Amino acid sequence: MHYTTHPERGDSLLTLTEFARFIGILQTPINQRQRHGDLKMVTIKVAINGFGTIGKRVADAIDAQEDMKVSGVTKTGPSFGCELAIKKGFPLYCTFDDEDRIDQFSKQGYSCAGGLSDLLAISDVVVDCSPGKSGAENLEKYQSADIKYIFQGGEKHELTGLSYTSSANHMENMNAKGTRVVSCNTTGLSRTLVPLFEHCGSLKVECTMIRRAADPGDSGKGPINAIKPVLKVPSHHGSDVMTVKPEIEINSLAVAVSTTLMHVHSIVADLPEGHGLTTESILQMWTNTPRVIIMNGAEDRIPTTAEVMEMARDIGRKWGDLHEIFIWEDGVKLVEDRLYYFQAIHQESDVIPENVDCIRALMGVEKDWRKSVAKTDDSISRYYSLLS
Ligand code: NAD
Repeated sequence: MHYTTHPERGDSLLTLTEFARFIGILQTPINQRQRHGDLKMVTIKVAINGFGTIGKRVADAIDAQEDMKVSGVTKTGPSFGCELAIKKGFPLYCTFDDEDRIDQFSKQGYSCAGGLSDLLAISDVVVDCSPGKSGAENLEKYQSADIKYIFQGGEKHELTGLSYTSSANHMENMNAKGTRVVSCNTTGLSRTLVPLFEHCGSLKVECTMIRRAADPGDSGKGPINAIKPVLKVPSHHGSDVMTVKPEIEINSLAVAVSTTLMHVHSIVADLPEGHGLTTESILQMWTNTPRVIIMNGAEDRIPTTAEVMEMARDIGRKWGDLHEIFIWEDGVKLVEDRLYYFQAIHQESDVIPENVDCIRALMGVEKDWRKSVAKTDDSISRYYSLLS
């Protein structure tokens, strides 16, 4: 049974009886609905605070799901991003409650439904997609609205005391009040290292993050003609993996390079004696891991991130997104107990499906991370008509 009508999903309309029941459920606080076992019948209402690079993608991914809907998105003021929200039918709210700022929207011809407090009041969970380091101020607002919250990787783990990736610690996040979906780099490292760790029981990793200097939509970041080492060593990426999988011993370095397309990770992992793996069995393990793509750089003629992104555009997700972590098959080699590999990360989109799984964890509706991942990815594929 579906509660919303959506032309891209082709959902059905409610009968009157279903509608009456639905209204009854809506009027019951969500924790009581959960206790009564009704939650699986309810569409989770998700607020998106910050409708930029990550926010607009998370909104689409939520809109694709049958068990959740976008209750509204916020913009700080009228700008080109408002057009997208209106086109998608997402109710538009102002990031602030200040009447003057709310009025600015109508002056520019955009209908604004109110301020952030109004949006939080009609939502079950808020996904904070504001620029990194806005977290502390926003957290206070979420706590006073008594709403569940998810921050992004631009915030520190200490803000929430809990972090999330689908494969590493979904269960740990079940029914939590709030958490943080780790950064694109940490998500990428977790995707390939967690299955290795689970097989081996221990893992020591040294890796270098070769980072894009700016997202394609950014005009104010760089470098544009230099390689910029992150001089705070080791970089934070390794220790960030340990916020979701503390058992993995990992250190990292990072450099920013003049590209906007992707990050590349150069990884050296020491496996414990007796691991029983080969290069081929490791590739097979990753083939069986959700949201990982393996292709051969030479044979598939996909030697660089430029071709990887071209392949992603062929897949057909909006914005040419690649939710999967990309591994070059011919760049993987186990030498005795030491594993070498490269992987590429589409920084703007690998965290998007993780936010959807994270909502299911916080709302306590799906314990099995693999089931949530399958549901999320399948719904996104249907939404963009990618399933044959
Ligand atoms: P962005 O700058 O593209 O978008 C942020 C949006 O939030 C903008 O629309 C901005 O106007 C709005 N905003 C500004 N101040 C706000 C406030 N106080 N409250 C709410 N909204 C506010 O940023 P982004 O790239 O989407 O990054 C969002 C978060 O996601 C950050 O924590 C970032 O570190 C993380 N992240 C970004 C990427 C990436 O590659 N862009 C990848 C993974 C995680």
